[in-house]
Amino acid sequence: MNIEITLPDKSIRKYNNPITGEAIALDIGPKLGKDAIGIEINKQIFDTSYEITENVSINILTSKDRVSLSILRHSTAHLLAQAVLNLFPGTQYGVGPDIEDGFYYDFLFEQTISDEDLPKIEKEMKRLSAEKQYFSKSFIDKSQALNIFKNQKFKMELINTADATEGVDADQVSVYSNNDFLDLCRGPHVPHTGFIKHFKLTRLGGAYWRGDEDNPQLQRIYGTSWFTDDDLQQYLTRRIEAEKRDHRKIGKELELFTTADELGPGQFLWKPNGALLRNTIENYSKKAHIQNGYEFVNTPHIGRSTLWETSGHLEHYEEGMYPPLQSKDNDDKYYLKPMNCPFHILIYKSELRSYKELPVRLFELGSVYRFEKTGVLHGLLRARGFTQDDAHIFCTFEQINQEINSLLRFSISLLKSFGFNDIEADLSTKPKKAIGEDKDWDIATESLENALNDEGINFITAEGEGAFYGPKIDLHVKDAIGRRWQLSTIQIDFAQPNNFKLEYVTSKNNKDRPVMVHRALLGSIERFTGILIEHYSGEFPGWLAPTQLKILTIGNVEDYVQTIVDKLPNVRLKVDNRNIRLGEKIHDAKKQKIPLSLIVGEKDLSENTGSLNILNSESINNQKISHLLKEINKQVKEPKFEF
Ligand SMILES: [Zn+2]
Ligand SMILES: [Zn+2]
Repeated sequence: MNIEITLPDKSIRKYNNPITGEAIALDIGPKLGKDAIGIEINKQIFDTSYEITENVSINILTSKDRVSLSILRHSTAHLLAQAVLNLFPGTQYGVGPDIEDGFYYDFLFEQTISDEDLPKIEKEMKRLSAEKQYFSKSFIDKSQALNIFKNQKFKMELINTADATEGVDADQVSVYSNNDFLDLCRGPHVPHTGFIKHFKLTRLGGAYWRGDEDNPQLQRIYGTSWFTDDDLQQYLTRRIEAEKRDHRKIGKELELFTTADELGPGQFLWKPNGALLRNTIENYSKKAHIQNGYEFVNTPHIGRSTLWETSGHLEHYEEGMYPPLQSKDNDDKYYLKPMNCPFHILIYKSELRSYKELPVRLFELGSVYRFEKTGVLHGLLRARGFTQDDAHIFCTFEQINQEINSLLRFSISLLKSFGFNDIEADLSTKPKKAIGEDKDWDIATESLENALNDEGINFITAEGEGAFYGPKIDLHVKDAIGRRWQLSTIQIDFAQPNNFKLEYVTSKNNKDRPVMVHRALLGSIERFTGILIEHYSGEFPGWLAPTQLKILTIGNVEDYVQTIVDKLPNVRLKVDNRNIRLGEKIHDAKKQKIPLSLIVGEKDLSENTGSLNILNSESINNQKISHLLKEINKQVKEPKFEF
C-alpha cells in the first residue's frame, strides 16, 4: 500500500500504511505534532486521530485557523458535561454546541443549580483538563447506543430520532469518549483535554429541550474558551463593556423603545425618541436607494396560502411562519408574511416586461413576521416582528455581474455612512443539494467573488453553505468593541423565477427567464438600530441622535433663546429653562447622551454670545452665536452618501 499526502504547499509525503493526521503532523515537525488541532480533508474537518487510507490533500489545523476555535469550544462543552456529571451524578444531559465566542450545554439537574455552583464546576473542569484525557471516536450500532444511554432520556431521544447533527445515523451512532465520559457526537474535537486551558463559565440561563416550549425546561450553562489567557482576558473585558452597552438597557434609559406583556414576545413599541432615530435611519436608506436607481413599492402584511405554496415557503419555511388566519365561513387561509419576496415578484409579474426595462429594482421597507422560538429572542437583535430594507432585483443573466458589483459598492458605502468601516464577508457556495445548472452556479458564484475582490473586501468562502437556490454574500461589520455583526445579505436566486414562471421579452422577441437577487443591506431596521445603540453606546453622532441639541439657559433669556431656535429650523432641539442650577442641566444632558449643549445666560444678551458643549469633545466657550450656529449645523449634518 502506498499513500500520498499532498500538503498545502503542494509538497507530497508518502507512507506505506494508513496514517493518522497526528502522525503526519509529527512527521513534519515535533512542534506541529504538538500543536495540531484537527485536519482538513476536502474541506471537511476531522480529528487528528483520523486514519487516512487513500491519497488526499490535507491541511493541518492549529490554533491559528479560525475554525480551530469552534473545535476548542465544542470540546470545552464536552468537558463541562463531564464535570457536571461527576459532581451531579443524576443529571440528564442534552446537547452542547459551540456558539459565537463560546459554547453552552443544556442540563436537567435533579435539583436546579445556581450561579454559585459555576466556580465549583469550573474547578472540576480544570482538574479534568490537567489529566490530558484523549478524545476517542467510535461507531456503535443503535441498540448498543440505546443500552449505553438508557438512563439518559435526551440522548435516547436523539438516538431514536436519528439526529444527524448529534452524530446519529439511521443505523450507526458516532460516540466520543474521554476516560469514562461518553457523549453522542459527530466531532471533531481537540486531541485531548489538555488543550482546554483558558476557559470560563460565564452564565446560567434557561432553555427548553430542543427549543420547544412543550418540552421540559432545562438549565443552560454558557461558557467561553480560548487558546491563550490573553485572548480570554480580552474577551472577558469586552463582555463587561458589552453589558454596559446592552441596547435593552440603553434603549430604556434613552426612552427609545419598550415592550409589553400584552404584545407577546419579540415585539416592540417605539417611543418618540426611538421613532426619531428610526426615521433618520430609514430616511437615509431611502435617499440612498433613490440615488441607486431603485423603485419603491408597498405591499400588504398578509397573503393567501396559494401564494406561499407557489413560493415554496409553506414547504420549506412553515416552522418560521405564524399559524394561518382563517375565517369560519370559508376555507381561505391567510399567512402573515415572513418575507417580502413573493409580493415583489407579483409586482414584477403584473405586467409584461421587456429586456429594455431590466434590471428592475423594487425596494420596500417591508415588515415581516417570523415565529421565532422564545428561547432565541433577544431584544431588538432577534425579534418576531421587524422591518427589512428589502429589495429584489430582476435582471438578465448577463447583467448579474454588473448588478452585484454596484450592489456591493452600495452596501459598503451605506454601512460606512453609519460608522462601520471594518467590513468582512462570507461567500457561501453551492451545497450538495441544489437546483439549477452547474454552469449558472459557477457564473453567479464567480460574479460574487469578483465583486468582493474588486472592492477589496476580505472574505472567507463557506464551501457548500449556500441556500439550495443560489450562492450569497454576507457582509459582517466590526463594532466599536471588536464584535462581528452580520448585516447585509446579497442572495442570488434561481428558484423563485421558476416557481412563479417569471419572464421578459428578449431583443429577439423571445421569452426568457430573469434572474432574481434578494438583498437587505441594513437587514432588519430593529436589529440594525440595536447594533447601532451598542456600537455607539447610545452616544450617537449628531445626525442620528433623536435630540441633537439642548439649549441650557441661565436666568431670563427667553427672547434670546427664541431668536436662536428660529435660526435652527432643521435641528432637533429642546430647551431646558427649568429653574435649577446649570450644573444639574449639564448633568442631565450628558445622561441623555445629547451630542450638543448650547449654554446661554443673561450676560450673553448684550454680546450675542454663548458656549457650546460637544459630548466627548472640547467645549467652545464664550463665542459669537453666529459662529456657534455654524458649528451646530456642521455637527448635525448627515454624512454625504458617497457612491
Ligand atoms: Zn462533541
Ligand atoms: Zn427576498
